[in-house]
Amino acid sequence: RKKDIMIVLHDITREKRVEQLKTDFVSIAAHQLRTPLSAVKWGLKTVLEGDVGQMTAPQKDLVEKTYKSNERMIVLVDDLLSVARIEQGRYIGKRIQADIQDVLESVLAQLKQNAVTKGIKFKVLKPATRLPKILLDDDAMQVAVQNLIQNAIDYTPSGGTVIISSSYANGRVRVSVQDNGVGIASGEQERIFTKFYRGSKAIQIKTEGSGLGLFIVKNIVEAHGGTIWFESEENKGSTFSFTIPTETSMGEKRSPKEATKERR
Ligand code: ADP
Repeated sequence: RKKDIMIVLHDITREKRVEQLKTDFVSIAAHQLRTPLSAVKWGLKTVLEGDVGQMTAPQKDLVEKTYKSNERMIVLVDDLLSVARIEQGRYIGKRIQADIQDVLESVLAQLKQNAVTKGIKFKVLKPATRLPKILLDDDAMQVAVQNLIQNAIDYTPSGGTVIISSSYANGRVRVSVQDNGVGIASGEQERIFTKFYRGSKAIQIKTEGSGLGLFIVKNIVEAHGGTIWFESEENKGSTFSFTIPTETSMGEKRSPKEATKERR
């Protein structure tokens, strides 16, 4: 018996082109915003430091608030630029053999003050032996780890603890960030890596978030051949983990000698 087969071909050239135009628009707009935002920052800073005369307490208070709003705008514009670069496939730059422990230490040093200010304790669980090195764009990896730890700080009430651990098993380096904060409602969990998505609890606690952080983190981890996941329970806390393979799957071949050296 003869079977009828129908093949439908849909030309998506136009859709692709529209997507690309949107990404390019965001990229250009964000770039254009960065310069005046930096000028505003510089101006406000000069005023705050008293270089153009002393202010009354209420004036100073107002300028401080304006300065903080401007800082948030700079972060938002930087996040938009990162998203555009991810979508254009040019976010990840030069990769080097690096120790993820160094990335963790540098991020922890940067965020320590934020945690202290909020009354949150950091606990760092180090692996028993030094982790094998992995191929990293270490600037990008810093952004990823920083986002995870900053989220843990943001979504954990004062008095909470954030535990950062790293380990190695089955050819993969693993990093986990655990908090005992507000958690994520089960009905919202599947959307949290989506661009611009913010959980309902998160919106209540921190009004100014962009919902871009986890989208950026996921893309960075996956660009390194890795996997990211989380476990979370409302009002109990969340644990975000990712693994990165030590053997590179990005087509960058190492000499056998180098590989043996590393295994020893
Ligand atoms: P933002 O923090 O700006 O809202 P993210 O993309 O970083 O954006 O996170 C998306 C959402 O995931 C958050 O709005 C929040 O609902 C949830 N989330 C992320 N990290 C945590 C965490 N450690 N604890 C609870 N909720 C979290």
